[in-house]
Amino acid sequence: MPDFQRITSWANAHEEACARFLADIIAIPSVSGHEGQVVERIASEMRAVGFDSVEIDDFGNVIGRVGRGSHILAFDAHVDTVDVGAPELWGGRNPFEPRIENGILYGRGAADQKGGMAALVYAGKGIRELNLEGDWQFVVVGSVSEENCDGLCWQYLVREGIVQPEVVVLTEPTELAIYRGQRGRMEMEVGTPGISCHGSAPERGDNAIYKMAPIVQEIERLSDNLATDSFLGKGTVTISEIRSTSPSLCAVADSCTIHLDRRLTKGETKEAALKEIRALPSVKKHKANVRLLEYRQPTWRGTIYPTESYFPAWVTGENSQVVQAGCIAHEKLFSKPVKVGRWSFSTNGVATAGLLGIPSIGFGPASETHAHAPSDQIPLWHLPRAIAFYMAYPEIYVSM
Ligand SMILES: [Zn+2]
Repeated sequence: MPDFQRITSWANAHEEACARFLADIIAIPSVSGHEGQVVERIASEMRAVGFDSVEIDDFGNVIGRVGRGSHILAFDAHVDTVDVGAPELWGGRNPFEPRIENGILYGRGAADQKGGMAALVYAGKGIRELNLEGDWQFVVVGSVSEENCDGLCWQYLVREGIVQPEVVVLTEPTELAIYRGQRGRMEMEVGTPGISCHGSAPERGDNAIYKMAPIVQEIERLSDNLATDSFLGKGTVTISEIRSTSPSLCAVADSCTIHLDRRLTKGETKEAALKEIRALPSVKKHKANVRLLEYRQPTWRGTIYPTESYFPAWVTGENSQVVQAGCIAHEKLFSKPVKVGRWSFSTNGVATAGLLGIPSIGFGPASETHAHAPSDQIPLWHLPRAIAFYMAYPEIYVSM
């Protein structure tokens, strides 16, 4: 077991340096697809604090390694953020000029999730300076394009053989609790065909919108009847967009399409979710086309890595080694009862645990409630807690 007292003292002594680095990376805008500059800044900090190796892959992720042992433990922080939204909601403040008030650091990405990134880089420094290395590698991934396509970065890292971890610790905000799952999601489209004709004699045509109307109502009713899980909550479906085409505004619509946001609870698969839409009476009656969408946007490095817009639900067992190692780290370092929960939102866990089956947990500074909001913030005292947790976790996990 590592010396928890030494780890805590080291982490506390480095809160300020970590906060300075965090402010630096908040000041570099990094909306998904434009992370190049922040990735370079993180890579240079990793080199400066003594990581054994630092590389940027062709997808655009930055990967830093400390240690040369046989167990590969990956710690993930996505470095992209969502956009700022309506500027007036920020109360005259610049989201990219971080400021500290009463021990809280504000700025875009403070909660989601540059705080986790900064803590990981300083944990690497701490592991090196305190000679904590064991039979493991501490692999820090600053991943990209998460806000656009959660998990795609990890599909790339694992399928291209860049990182093959036995465990992934996600550092999205958990308020220093241990999270072990989330609902999944998928994006579908339903289309009805029609035949256009002059709007003055609609009986000559076949209106695609009229065919869609009963489908819309059946989907609304379907949402109430989807499966529930006691830990993850209920599956849902909602229509997020509707559009149609016609040769003119004086014509009958010749196609109608709806976009579905489907949230998946435990046990709900993409096959089952597609099947239940295809089985709706009006979908069958009107021969509507139901399809799963595909994601194919380029990363900041120009790489296109197409994937289905399917992000499975995942749950890691409460008694698994990954979760239990987290509970021990928490107890030893913070000597208070640990909370184990789940995220409301989606994370890279959809790929690491959901698609690839790698045991994954979450532990991160800041609160999910400030993610994507103009209140984006992180309490600075969370940073040394997170640093200490990441420093202690590998040895605890490996020696279990
Ligand atoms: Zn996030």
